[in-house]
Amino acid sequence: AITIATLKEADGENRVALSPDVVARLTKKDFEVLIEKGSGVAAFFPDQAYIDAGAKIVDRDTAIKDAKIVAVVNRPDEAVLTKLTSGQLIIGLLSALVQPDKIQLLAENKVTALSLELLPRTVSRAQSMDALSSQASVAGYKAALVGADNFKRYLPMMITAAGTAKPAKVLVLGTGVAGLQAIGTSKRLGAIVSGYDVRPDSRGEVESLGANFLTSSVSAAGEGGYARQLSAEEQQQQQDELTEFIRQSDIIITTAQVPGRKPPLLVTETAVNAVKPGTIFVDLAASALGGNVFGSEPSQTIITEGNAQIIGAQDMPSQLATAASEMYAKNIQAIITDIVHEDGITIDPDDDVLGELTATFEGEIISNRLRQTLE
Ligand code: NAD
Repeated sequence: AITIATLKEADGENRVALSPDVVARLTKKDFEVLIEKGSGVAAFFPDQAYIDAGAKIVDRDTAIKDAKIVAVVNRPDEAVLTKLTSGQLIIGLLSALVQPDKIQLLAENKVTALSLELLPRTVSRAQSMDALSSQASVAGYKAALVGADNFKRYLPMMITAAGTAKPAKVLVLGTGVAGLQAIGTSKRLGAIVSGYDVRPDSRGEVESLGANFLTSSVSAAGEGGYARQLSAEEQQQQQDELTEFIRQSDIIITTAQVPGRKPPLLVTETAVNAVKPGTIFVDLAASALGGNVFGSEPSQTIITEGNAQIIGAQDMPSQLATAASEMYAKNIQAIITDIVHEDGITIDPDDDVLGELTATFEGEIISNRLRQTLE
């Protein structure tokens, strides 16, 4: 039997790569599953739930040593990576494009690495494996709730004996998977919602949710369904046209990303300072490198001089850890089912899905996108 192990994520990450439900499915199919003690606790999956699903609870070193496949959410630290040896396989959100040096370390040790950020998005066979989508969907939903929760007025229109409340205006910048989910959730709460993106294709998706699509004068569809990076002039033009829309909004949820790059700045210092007191920014792109909103900080809430709030919300999937882990585990299960065959693990570097998803295999860098990043 092939052994799959899951490790406890670093502090601050509540998700876990395998859920008890998926473990039960895997053990039924003759896989052996090892769970590092306490891995699921923060997602409300106690060790006993994994034991009931047929897994063994072990310490970290045993999990690493005895596994053929190691499944993680985030890339583990170097102490773990250097313990992996030839013939072992690691699957997770390994940030291959952002920190390719760590992936090279795995290649040198002939560890196979599948980095979920590299999965092609538009091939239909890859949909069940698409962890970026499952986690972005969770993030968009939770971002809308966090925005609503921090906003000190109603989202829906309220007609009461004590007066009428106007519906809130929600603006979603970046209408990919997370943005569309934020739009749908804000609509269900009764807000008036607008969406904005530089991919003209997203108009239909935004309008089908009953939201208003703000036309951008910048068109920046890139490869693989993603947006391309904007030139300095385009970025300026975009920031200028957005400032007035932002000023008229109550809650601004930002989700704009360009793979492997620093997130674009959509809300400038001028725009932040022009909003009404009580305005809420929820920045899903907040990162150590900066986010979509000027001044946003990951996992922090900044109160501006004008009394607006900027919420650095890159950790939304971790805050909805149970749902996020259940979906993530299904993505992992789909990948395992795709690569494990009767005669063991097979990875065809020419396959349209695996050839992209696979960062390293037998000491070589396989993914074209990763290779281009390294050149
Ligand atoms: P993402 O997280 O990379 O980016 C979020 C959104 O930000 C995108 O819509 C992008 O266009 C937008 N953006 C980037 N720069 C911007 C800027 N300067 N201004 C405004 N908006 C900006 O995107 P994602 O959610 O991962 O989706 C990427 C693509 O993959 C989309 O086209 C999506 O529809 C597609 N997708 C397809 C499938 C499928 O066919 N199965 C599944 C998932 C995603």
